[in-house]
Amino acid sequence: MKLGDQKASGNVEDRRGIGMVGGGLGVGGIVIALVAYFLGFDPGTVLNVAEQVAPQRPRQQDGREAPKGAPSDQMGRFVSKVLGSTEDVWGKIFQQSNKQYRPPMLVLYDGRVRSACGMGQAATGPFYCSGDEKLYIDLAFFRDLQTRFRAPGDFAQAYVIAHEVGHHVQKLTGTFGKMEAARARVSPAESKRLSVRMELQADCYAGVWGHHAGTMKQLSPGDVAEALNAATAIGDDRLQQQTQGRVVPESFTHGSSEQRVRWFMRGMSSGRPKQCDTFSTGSL
Ligand SMILES: [Zn+2]
Repeated sequence: MKLGDQKASGNVEDRRGIGMVGGGLGVGGIVIALVAYFLGFDPGTVLNVAEQVAPQRPRQQDGREAPKGAPSDQMGRFVSKVLGSTEDVWGKIFQQSNKQYRPPMLVLYDGRVRSACGMGQAATGPFYCSGDEKLYIDLAFFRDLQTRFRAPGDFAQAYVIAHEVGHHVQKLTGTFGKMEAARARVSPAESKRLSVRMELQADCYAGVWGHHAGTMKQLSPGDVAEALNAATAIGDDRLQQQTQGRVVPESFTHGSSEQRVRWFMRGMSSGRPKQCDTFSTGSL
């Protein structure tokens, strides 16, 4: 990526190196989150369940406030610039329909973190919490992406951030709320199918951002291939094959590699969120 001219977002909370003390979900919650990760659920969804048991605390228990603003280290800067780029793009898109984009906060953490959705930890991967409208990113996941999932490249990392921003857009457009309400009424199987539609829409929204990043001359040759490689690497079928040695489509929560690639590309080539209607389409 070429982010030289991009303004870094100040909506970053840097909780790296700040100890996490106290309650949280307990071992059970962590195990659920871990299992969820390996099975490919969105841990955000799983952690949502724990919202009541683990009320949010505005600051770490050791009393230290996390510093806010764009961090100065290389990775922190990169993340803030990507976030800044998503703010520019979604700000304009919302403006075009006379709406205002309310940017999310991005929390950088290492190890474990407390969110309004409960506790996250590195093994859960990045997640979005609709309760506090924050994206939680552990930079260790980017290393995983490179080594374990063999999806290197800065645009692969940017895609992951843009996907979580996509969930925030769903929160702002009301899709998130509708989904949560629907999930409470339907069978677990149907709930999974809804989850896949949510996730593929977030992939498509990530593509929409990618399209406009391209227009702003922020992409380098090979960037799109990096994102497609990442989308392939974290498809449910691929993850299941790796972790369980077999593929169970009925338990998909994010969509297959092929679907993730296709919806990302739909956003990427059109640049239009309207193209991301994964809910009314007959074939995903
Ligand atoms: Zn997601």
